[in-house]
Amino acid sequence: MNCDLIIKGKYILPMDEKLTVIKDGFIAVSKDKITTLGEINEIGKCQAKKIIDAGNSIIMPGLINTHTHAAMAYFRGLADDLPLDVWLKEHIFPAEAKYVNNEFIKKSGKLSCLEMIKSGTTCFNDMYFFGQEILAEVVKTAGLRALLGLDLKNPGYSVERVIEIAKQFKDDEFIKIALAPHSVYVCPREILEKVKQAAKAENLRVHIHVSETKKEVEDSIKNNGKSPVEYLDELGLLSDKLMAAHSVWLSDNDLEIYKNRGVKVAHCPVSNMKLASGVAPVEKMLKSEISVGLATDGAASNNTQDLFTEMRVCALLHKVSNLNPAVVSAREVVKMATINGAKVIGMEKEIGSLEVGKKADIITVGLNKPHLMPIYDPYSHLVYCANGADVKNVIVNGKVIMKNREVKTLDEDKILAEAVKFKI
Ligand SMILES: [Zn+2]
Repeated sequence: MNCDLIIKGKYILPMDEKLTVIKDGFIAVSKDKITTLGEINEIGKCQAKKIIDAGNSIIMPGLINTHTHAAMAYFRGLADDLPLDVWLKEHIFPAEAKYVNNEFIKKSGKLSCLEMIKSGTTCFNDMYFFGQEILAEVVKTAGLRALLGLDLKNPGYSVERVIEIAKQFKDDEFIKIALAPHSVYVCPREILEKVKQAAKAENLRVHIHVSETKKEVEDSIKNNGKSPVEYLDELGLLSDKLMAAHSVWLSDNDLEIYKNRGVKVAHCPVSNMKLASGVAPVEKMLKSEISVGLATDGAASNNTQDLFTEMRVCALLHKVSNLNPAVVSAREVVKMATINGAKVIGMEKEIGSLEVGKKADIITVGLNKPHLMPIYDPYSHLVYCANGADVKNVIVNGKVIMKNREVKTLDEDKILAEAVKFKI
């Protein structure tokens, strides 16, 4: 059997239903898809044009970031140690008004894509109010996948414009478009009603920030007599196509609504900790079988887009907040960063696990480092020991976009030089 690419390595974590671990394994790729995988002794007469022998490595699906604002990379470290409303209203919104233009989106977006590739993220779910068409081109150049949410806040996109852009990208293999009403506290009722109709008519996903802070919930109860979740449910917006970022302050009734409507959650532990927003009830979500993906949020509130850090913090946060080391296990967290992330963005049939017929979005994590020795359990290492810089090779859609940490699709030196030059 002939194929285009074979990747070999010590451990393969396909992230399939059974959480199989293949020792000394291989994956064969033809064009954009995985054609075979198994133990190296089953490789038979498999001939490949290209071989990546990753040696002592973990080979796994590319990570999926379920909520970020890629264009905000240039605001990294601009304002820290502040509460959300002060941070947003006094620092981020004014900086956006002053600096965000086409050029900014292009350069800052490239920096984000570079950071994502170098830390093993192959697909991300984005939200921004400006320049998403430009970001789409950057993502395609980088060789990544993205679901780009077009933010409907003011200033931002109109629902009509989102529908238009979604049509332009209808058959695009790498870019999908979502409606993104920023939040209940930013978007008026008429907009949310329009979003509901458009989402249904055009079959689009909806990406929104929900119940991020206690104040957001208190204000919603004051203004609408309901929690943000109850309010969105009354508007008919909650469905299995709704992706709710944060979801920190949820009552048991809110959780019940999420479960019944099939709402998906993008969990951002580092951002929630840094802005002291609170601890999302992830343990309860998992018990209710609500799909939870992992997310960094934008580089202005994290301040990295390294999902490995996010995995570690996620596991630690829920253990200490539940005073129970058994909750949110390493396996559960790796699922959140891969197959469950794919479920959140509605792409679980194409990506999120390494299975025959699925897209070849694959990363290898090199283990020959002091902080990764010895190894008893690869899941434990991914969550508790590894970091983004341990990712060595990145393949998206069957194409090698980083080899031995050298990014093939973007000019790293140029992107870094441009970032150094940018000053506020
Ligand atoms: Zn956000």
